[in-house]
Amino acid sequence: MKKDIVIIGGGVVGLMSAYFLLKENQDILIIDKNEIKNGASFGNAGLLSAFAKNPLSSPGVILSTFKLMLKGESPVTLHPSLDIKLYYWLYAFMKNANYKRLNKTLALFEKNGEKAINSYKKMKTEDDMNFYFKEDGLLMVYTQEKSFQDKIKISSDKNLYTILNKSETKKYLPFINDNIIGSVLLKQNAHLDPSLLMSELKSYLLKKGVEFVLNEEVLDFKFKKNKITKVYTQKNFYKANTFILASGANDSLFKKTNNSFLMTKAKGYSLTFEMKEELKPKTSALFADLFIAVTPREKTVRITSKLELGSNDLKIVKKQIASIKNNLFLYTKDFEMKNIVEWSGFRPLCPDDMPILGFDKTYVNLVHANGLGWLGITFGPAIGEIISDLVCLHKENKKSDDILLFSQFYQV
Ligand SMILES: Cc1cc2nc3c(=O)[nH]c(=O)nc-3n(C[C@H](O)[C@H](O)[C@H](O)COP(=O)(O)OP(=O)(O)OC[C@H]3O[C@@H](n4cnc5c(N)ncnc54)[C@H](O)[C@@H]3O)c2cc1C
Repeated sequence: MKKDIVIIGGGVVGLMSAYFLLKENQDILIIDKNEIKNGASFGNAGLLSAFAKNPLSSPGVILSTFKLMLKGESPVTLHPSLDIKLYYWLYAFMKNANYKRLNKTLALFEKNGEKAINSYKKMKTEDDMNFYFKEDGLLMVYTQEKSFQDKIKISSDKNLYTILNKSETKKYLPFINDNIIGSVLLKQNAHLDPSLLMSELKSYLLKKGVEFVLNEEVLDFKFKKNKITKVYTQKNFYKANTFILASGANDSLFKKTNNSFLMTKAKGYSLTFEMKEELKPKTSALFADLFIAVTPREKTVRITSKLELGSNDLKIVKKQIASIKNNLFLYTKDFEMKNIVEWSGFRPLCPDDMPILGFDKTYVNLVHANGLGWLGITFGPAIGEIISDLVCLHKENKKSDDILLFSQFYQV
């Protein structure tokens, strides 16, 4: 049977697109090659960090990463690769790390971050979804005097920031030791438990009639002139009026539609564990100089870190887990991590932090919703809304302000 919409990929972007399309009475099928249980949208830190936080490709990032590499504390690993695209990606990343882009990116982040936080609130209050969600800011913790002072200089607005010394920081993070320098609370940010969000959202969509096909990978398309008529999996084919490609870091379908977007896989890790209640963080924290996030959840705490480029392997590398712990433990008291669950996943990362959004340039009924990088949870609902508007209002890319401003397609 022909659907209004087939969404390829049931990560946060696919599910959020379905959530908003459903409100426009669309008949939707989501196809996922896995079970929708443990992908990038589940194992991440759950930070909603759109406010007052620089993009990944920002001025100074290359130098500070290099310094950390020399100290053996760098979160970044670059695996030598034969894929020339990775080197183009790196070049584009360096080119985009400039002040001209920074302010534009920050403004776009704030606009879409606010939209997303409002939607998360509505999902809880109006749609009765029950997931852990806290609007209590993000604590940026500094272990280097210079980076702390640099942050203080731009954090004078008391409505948005609270500057904390070492002992004030300990009230938020009772597990840290005296080696940290201080912190700045970015008050507008929030955090949630992404696994709970995803399972609540999936149940909601199922209840409202969205169909799911799991454990089938979309391998190819059937084209008729400038349209896609069906998608093929190993077992079946599925027809629709519109197809949304939300396959996260898996770029294998880009080639099938003659696209070569500059998106790369950036592998990261998380450790989820129980710790003594009195040591648990009171809010989410980002150890800015280490690129380690610590997020409290209902019963557990999650640590995330690492950005490995050039790796296609989801294997959990013990050396990387040990390195996360060792880097963090320099700044914490001795504490026990009980029942640790180790996880790894890929961020679908674009070199300028701008996602791949909008109608395909060739196939008029194909919409791209990808490349959310390290901010898919932060922006998920905003992206879902943008995609739904585009499809339901039949907007051309160039007639949508959101696409013009926030999509990879229109960046210079
Ligand atoms: C360590 C780590 C920490 C992070 N922390 C944060 C954070 O604190 N805040 C934040 O906002 N973001 C964070 N992120 C980023 C966030 O997790 C991602 O941006 C987001 O999950 C991407 O969502 P997605 O839907 O695009 O991709 P995914 O969640 O990867 O979903 C894509 C889905 O498509 C399916 N699929 C792929 N190809 C096919 C195919 N051909 N056929 C059928 N199905 C297919 C996959 O099985 C998958 O389920 C983090 C990521 C990592 C790795």
